[in-house]
Amino acid sequence: MKIIIIEDESEIADGISTILENAGYQAEIAYDGMTGLEEIQSGIYDLVLLDVMLPKMNGLEVLKSIRKDGITVPVIMLTALSQTGDKISGLDCGADDYITKPFDAGELLARIRARLRRPDETVSSSLAFADVRLEQATFRLYGKEKSVKLSRKEYQLLECLMINNGQILPRDMLITKIWGYDEETEYNQLDVYISFVRKKLKFVESQAVIVTTKGIGYSLEVGK
Ligand code: CA
Repeated sequence: MKIIIIEDESEIADGISTILENAGYQAEIAYDGMTGLEEIQSGIYDLVLLDVMLPKMNGLEVLKSIRKDGITVPVIMLTALSQTGDKISGLDCGADDYITKPFDAGELLARIRARLRRPDETVSSSLAFADVRLEQATFRLYGKEKSVKLSRKEYQLLECLMINNGQILPRDMLITKIWGYDEETEYNQLDVYISFVRKKLKFVESQAVIVTTKGIGYSLEVGK
C-alpha cells in the first residue's frame, strides 16, 4: 500500500512518514499542493493524506481538482484544531475523512485502515450517501464514528430516501412503498418514522438531513 503525504511542515510530514513506514506502508511526501496534485494524478497511490494550508495550491483546491477529474482515491484531510470550517469544506469537496492535528500514531493508522478497507465492504450490499452508509445485511447505519441499528421500517424509509437522494419523494409514494396500499391510518406513522430516522442520522453525527417540503413530501440532502 502506497500513501502520499501532502504537507508543507517538514517535521509533521517526516513524522507521519515514519509512522506509516513502521506500520508497513510505503510513504512519499509532497511539500506543496501543486506537486501533491501531480503525484495523485500519477495514479500510483492507494490513499492521500492532505493538509489544508499549503503553498502554491491549497488542500481544498487539490481535492476539488482530483474529484472533478473523477479520481476516487481515498483522501483524509489533515486539519488544525482552529480550522473546524475546513473539515466541513473538505467533506463537501469530496474528502473521505479528516483528522485533527495534533494526532497520535494509533489514531492516524486506525483512520487509514478504515479507509483502505472500505471498498471491499461496499461490495456487500450497502448504500452510501454523504457521510453515512446503510448496510443491508444488518440494518445498521454507519456514520464516521458511530453506528446504530434501524428497525425494518426505518431501514426501508432511509433506503428509499438514499436511493433517490436530492429528490422530493411524495408522502403517498413513501406510504405505499413502506406500508402498502389503502392504509389511511399510516399517514401519521410516516411522520413518526421520519422523526425516528432523523434522530438516528443525528445520533451518528451525519450531515445528511431529511428535508420536509410542506404538503408534498421529503428529501434526503446534505445539511449546511
Ligand atoms: Ca500546512
